[in-house]
Amino acid sequence: MLQHCGVRSLEGTMTKKQKKEAHRKASLKWRNNNINKARRDNRNWARTHKQRAAQITQQWRKNNPRKHRANMSANNATRHAKYYGAPGKWTGAQWFALCKMYGNVCLRCHRKRRLTPDHVIPFSKGGTNYRNNIQPLCKPCNSGKRDKTTDYRTQSVTQTRSISNTNSRRTAPRK
Ligand SMILES: [Zn+2]
Repeated sequence: MLQHCGVRSLEGTMTKKQKKEAHRKASLKWRNNNINKARRDNRNWARTHKQRAAQITQQWRKNNPRKHRANMSANNATRHAKYYGAPGKWTGAQWFALCKMYGNVCLRCHRKRRLTPDHVIPFSKGGTNYRNNIQPLCKPCNSGKRDKTTDYRTQSVTQTRSISNTNSRRTAPRK
């Protein structure tokens, strides 16, 4: 790292904290520019350090329970969709963003409860696993909806496929 990150030439004038920060930034920059190699290296490292890798994963899950649950939701939905032959896929981070967009409340009872992804049009009725078919509901509401196709999202949201521009939609009037 020291040899090729370009930080060494500046090191003489830096404090210990600055050096650490400079190396962290350089390392992050390298990772962003070589993301595929970085991921491959990580996978290879994890293969040869199974016990340590499991420990790190376990620790991360403990420190990020909500993100972990979001990833589990995404994996479950992907598996479920595959079973029904439904197209579409989303990540835990995207599910996280979707919940945040709706104020982290259940869209049916409007309570702040643990949320589960509900497919507006269920797989059994030909629904997809794309994000525009997902609404956050709490577990009792999700179960109560069964295989109905009720859309609890605001009109302004259903008309838009993308969820990237969250700010404009959060202020949109509810209908
Ligand atoms: Zn609810």
